[in-house]
Amino acid sequence: MGDETAEDDELVRAVIALMDHADDVRRLGVRANADTPEDAARARRFGAQGIGLCRTEHMFLGDRRELVEHLILAENPDEQREALDALLPMQRDDFTGILEAMDGLPVTIRLLDPPLHEFLPDYTQLAVRLAHEEENHEDKPRTHKLLAVKRLHEENPMLGLRGVRLGIVIPGLYTMQARAILEATAARTAAGGDPQPEIMIPLVGSPQELELMKAEIIGVAAEVEKETGTKLTFKVGTMIELPRAVTLADQIAKVAEFFSFGTNDLTQMTWGFSRDDVEASFFSTYLEKGIFPVSPFESLDVEGVGLLVEHAVKAGRKARPDLHLGVCGEHGGDPDSIHFFDEIGLDYVSCSPYRVPVARLEAGRSATAGSASA
Ligand code: PEP
Ligand code: MG
Repeated sequence: MGDETAEDDELVRAVIALMDHADDVRRLGVRANADTPEDAARARRFGAQGIGLCRTEHMFLGDRRELVEHLILAENPDEQREALDALLPMQRDDFTGILEAMDGLPVTIRLLDPPLHEFLPDYTQLAVRLAHEEENHEDKPRTHKLLAVKRLHEENPMLGLRGVRLGIVIPGLYTMQARAILEATAARTAAGGDPQPEIMIPLVGSPQELELMKAEIIGVAAEVEKETGTKLTFKVGTMIELPRAVTLADQIAKVAEFFSFGTNDLTQMTWGFSRDDVEASFFSTYLEKGIFPVSPFESLDVEGVGLLVEHAVKAGRKARPDLHLGVCGEHGGDPDSIHFFDEIGLDYVSCSPYRVPVARLEAGRSATAGSASA
């Protein structure tokens, strides 16, 4: 028993020594994808150097889903404002907790991305309910709601009203989120903290989309600075997850202070594979026939999607030499992909908190392999 404990201690010391060595030699930073203060704290304990992706989707579920539904279906600016005013303090608390847990380290917060239908009632169920209300001669059957849900219905939600398109089409949504982030930043600064927020716009395909959103965010920041008397430091950047964003990376880099490669969507959009459908429906046949040796959603398709990432890195840095570059798709925690991201000069990878130790180790191995072959 005593020997086993001694062996365990020795093993733990060996792992710590290995991790320390990896940290000493690696060039590539390692961040975590985390959406809650608890996950952020866990990621920090595992050695994450910040958050590379804080998805804000889950913050709009549960009790808050209905508020988002009101926002989307609002019939006038007053209704819209009411929903936004209710969401703002909740979001401010969300971000304050995360910035506190990651104090002193960068936190990349992505504004809302998911397809619209996730926030809307199911059309068929709603139609049945309203027919029932009508039958019972209830006062005001909400047919306008049914029409709105029908109007917003999408056949291909992944290619529909999501990401920055939501920010542009639903007035006040992204500005509310930006305000919540910046008010949280001001509060953390006033409390003596060192918040380092990075506001990230998803699914950008044109520099104009980013310009529009960035201008709104800068406007909100000026208001918050005036209201709180606090000087705010933050960055605005974008995800690169559409092939068009890759081809226009130079123009987008003139607006963005950082790029984070969303390789889940970039893989989906480059191959034309629906992330929701293909793995179960035909990937086993593709693997069997050797079309690829491993799912491109697990390990980066270096010769296809990787080429796009590499192009955007070069074009982006040419346009803005201090452009900060990371990856936050699932590939950020995959060993082979990490080596590729290191080789092409990304600044960091971001992965789930539990993969952070592996990513640190692989970044160290990649640095060692690179110097051995140099
Ligand atoms: C991505 O597309 O790689 C990404 C990180 O965003 P999400 O998976 O949330 O679409
Ligand atoms: Mg994405």
